[in-house]
Amino acid sequence: MKHTWRLGKIFGIDINIDSSWLVIFVLFTWVLAGNYFPRAYPTWTRTLYWVMGLLTSLLVFASVLAHELAHSIVALRQGEKVRSITLFILGGVSQIAEEPKEPLKEFAMAIVGPMSSFIIAFVFFLLSLWLKAVSVPLAASATYLAIINMALGVFNLIPGFPMDGGRVLRSILWKATGNLKKATRIASLAGQGMAFLLVFLGIFEFLRGGLSGLWWILIGWFLHNAAVSGYSEVMIKSVLQGMKAEDLMSKDYETVSGDLSVQDLVDHYILKKKERVFLVSDNGDLKGIVCLEDVKQTPKEKWPHSKVKDIMTPRERLEAVTPDADGNQILASLGAKNIHQVPVMSGDKIEGIICRTDIIRYLQLRSDLGV
Ligand SMILES: [Zn+2]
Repeated sequence: MKHTWRLGKIFGIDINIDSSWLVIFVLFTWVLAGNYFPRAYPTWTRTLYWVMGLLTSLLVFASVLAHELAHSIVALRQGEKVRSITLFILGGVSQIAEEPKEPLKEFAMAIVGPMSSFIIAFVFFLLSLWLKAVSVPLAASATYLAIINMALGVFNLIPGFPMDGGRVLRSILWKATGNLKKATRIASLAGQGMAFLLVFLGIFEFLRGGLSGLWWILIGWFLHNAAVSGYSEVMIKSVLQGMKAEDLMSKDYETVSGDLSVQDLVDHYILKKKERVFLVSDNGDLKGIVCLEDVKQTPKEKWPHSKVKDIMTPRERLEAVTPDADGNQILASLGAKNIHQVPVMSGDKIEGIICRTDIIRYLQLRSDLGV
């Protein structure tokens, strides 16, 4: 199960925290308060260790957020839509709606992350010098943050896609070859290579008795997964670009009236026709869409008294697409409101309906055919 919490909005971007991030937050605080500070500063009180541990962890979090915001702000400036930033166990992810359209734009968008981490590291370094005369604990925290941000910048510069460094590499290869797919393949292979190197070094370090080797293995494993899934994501996106809504949609959808009771919908439509999705329409006007999920969310004892129009997703909440929309636009519509189907409409006329599963089936079919 994936759990994310929404913290708020900055520049219109949703800021989310993944539950896995809490693990790293607790771990950071614990290591700082229980080990790092007590070793370096044995004279502090126990409370001070924990206060500084917590404060420093929060600032690590703010630093990672600032790194991601730097990516997002450049993306916004380039006219891209940035939906959200999610912070998880090993950093953050900016949800940028589309892949960059030019090598130079991708270069700028990628390089700004590590650069901002280096700038933040430098600012904390200056702060630590100044704070030494003011407060030793605050200076210690600033020193630690300077090191962490430096490490964050260096780690992200690893030249393997989809790390920032890999994106920089891809943009350079893309500029040189003019071929995005080829550039992605090479940058992704570089990512997998770097991942194996990290795992290998990690094992070597661990066998020599260094526990930090486990970290290298974990990071290498993470990088390998990211390189493989990042590559297939780009490939899927390029396949999706070749799909048209009119080829994907089903035209033999059933229509029900909004005044139908939920009980009748279940008995006479869902169970009989074995369909999961129905258009709700009165006199040819689309009123909304009702699907199995809507029914399941309604308690059974309410089925006889509830009407379809009370549980459906109403027209104004639906993101319709035109028949010539491509696969990426369809997925964006599905993702924008987290719905399971989109109506395909030309003007006010309903042409068909596309479910998430239609897209998956199409991709499956293509991979079975090897095209
Ligand atoms: Zn980054």
